[in-house]
Amino acid sequence: MSTLEKMKILTDSAQYDLCDYVSHHKSSQVNLPGIYEATGHNGCKIPLFKTLLTNKCKNDCKYCINQSKRNFTRLELSPEELAKAFLGYYGRGMVNGLFLSSGITGDVDETMEKQIETVHLLRNKYGYDDYIHLKVVPGASKDSIKRAMALANRVSINIEAATPSGLAELSSTKDYNKDILKRLSWINSLQHKSTTYPNSTHTTQLIVGANSESDKEILERMEKIYKKSELKRTYFSAFTPVEETEFSNKEACSTDRTAKLYNADSLLNDYHYNVKELVFDENDRLSLTQDPKILAAKNMDIFPVEINRAPLVELIRVPGIGVKSARKIISIRKKMPFTNIEQLKKLGVVVNRAEPYIKISGEFQTTFDL
Ligand code: SF4
Repeated sequence: MSTLEKMKILTDSAQYDLCDYVSHHKSSQVNLPGIYEATGHNGCKIPLFKTLLTNKCKNDCKYCINQSKRNFTRLELSPEELAKAFLGYYGRGMVNGLFLSSGITGDVDETMEKQIETVHLLRNKYGYDDYIHLKVVPGASKDSIKRAMALANRVSINIEAATPSGLAELSSTKDYNKDILKRLSWINSLQHKSTTYPNSTHTTQLIVGANSESDKEILERMEKIYKKSELKRTYFSAFTPVEETEFSNKEACSTDRTAKLYNADSLLNDYHYNVKELVFDENDRLSLTQDPKILAAKNMDIFPVEINRAPLVELIRVPGIGVKSARKIISIRKKMPFTNIEQLKKLGVVVNRAEPYIKISGEFQTTFDL
């Protein structure tokens, strides 16, 4: 089988890993196998080459296309093959970076070594100095994680579930605390110690809807992680059944659910909400139709807040006011108090959302009931 044919299979096997992009290059328009659009800082779409080194895997994750019990074509590329294949795309301007992951064959650290060797070849043999995101495999040694972080702009480890019992529903071969959370904590402690990429960042991913975990359990886990680490962001992958897996007949998770999890996760990570401030239904699920920030606001007794006096922590709880606009409000009101809603509109406040929750110079902005 040619390298190109192998790549088509391996890149297809990598499609369920979600990622974004943390460099500053411009987007280009390419649509070929193995090339996936990641979202950059300013929302632009950036093509990344996303692949596995191998789709052979000893683990039995019941939702996964690559799980050990599935019968399909298994193969692997050597680090040299993969490095050259990637550079073929990169050299022609088709991609702006590499997202490298791998199934786990035999020894975990052998798998890590092959990923590290691939990145090492790119950096040191071929002089490639652009974006690399390397996926750390569960159970990887601290030394291998350290070396991966010295070579990659970003690393990530998928936590997959919110609780040990939730992971046990998905896989019998991975230990949640030891193989995953412990490694996440190592990544966090090693961050910024990389000499090559001192600003390297890390992310994680969960599968939503493949086990019985509620939105509340998922968000409680993320709250704990954000409090202890500098995790950049979390990806919520909506479970999709894959043929010939134990979960092939399970219902797919709606992307409406993951969209609300993203909204609520942003409240925890960017706005420093507590899970206790969020509103869940009787099954500990978020509303699929209403904005979690508006629902949370309806439960708070701080409103209406006075725009000319409210501290940051209250301003960012107003629906329609983001962190950036709240900071601008604080900076401007030091020089001159706000007198009308149009001034807020100019700062990017979504005024029709904010009106019921604010006063400006003592004046209510709406007659609506909260
Ligand atoms: S470890 Fe699990 S999720 Fe990762 S490739 Fe193997 S079977 Fe799939």
